[in-house]
Amino acid sequence: MTQALTEETATPAKEPKQDLSHDWIVAAEIHIDPRTAKRAFLRHSYIIPKGKRIHALEVYCKNCRRPYDDVADKVCSAKVNNEHLIGGDQSVRAKRKIPTPPPGARPAAAPAIDRRGSDRPYRL
Ligand SMILES: [Zn+2]
Repeated sequence: MTQALTEETATPAKEPKQDLSHDWIVAAEIHIDPRTAKRAFLRHSYIIPKGKRIHALEVYCKNCRRPYDDVADKVCSAKVNNEHLIGGDQSVRAKRKIPTPPPGARPAAAPAIDRRGSDRPYRL
């Protein structure tokens, strides 16, 4: 007996599992001689000699910019959403406190601010 596949019996198509792992990078420090430093400055690159040990200053994620020891066991927050860039979940964050002016204070007019600078005469 064959049973026709209905929407209830059919297995839903599996979505490809999203990779939420971190993209680890290391900030390195390499001591070089003055001649090599000049060459590396001019070429914006440096070829590391084979077998040279590099002192790792920090290991962190390229995407979320968080250090390894803080988020090694968590998913990459940059791949989930970018809440880490704005200080976390906006719905649970405390509202900004607006300071109350002292009693008897009145707002005073401030001078106009030239924000673009295009109206100024050119000076040397
Ligand atoms: Zn990450």
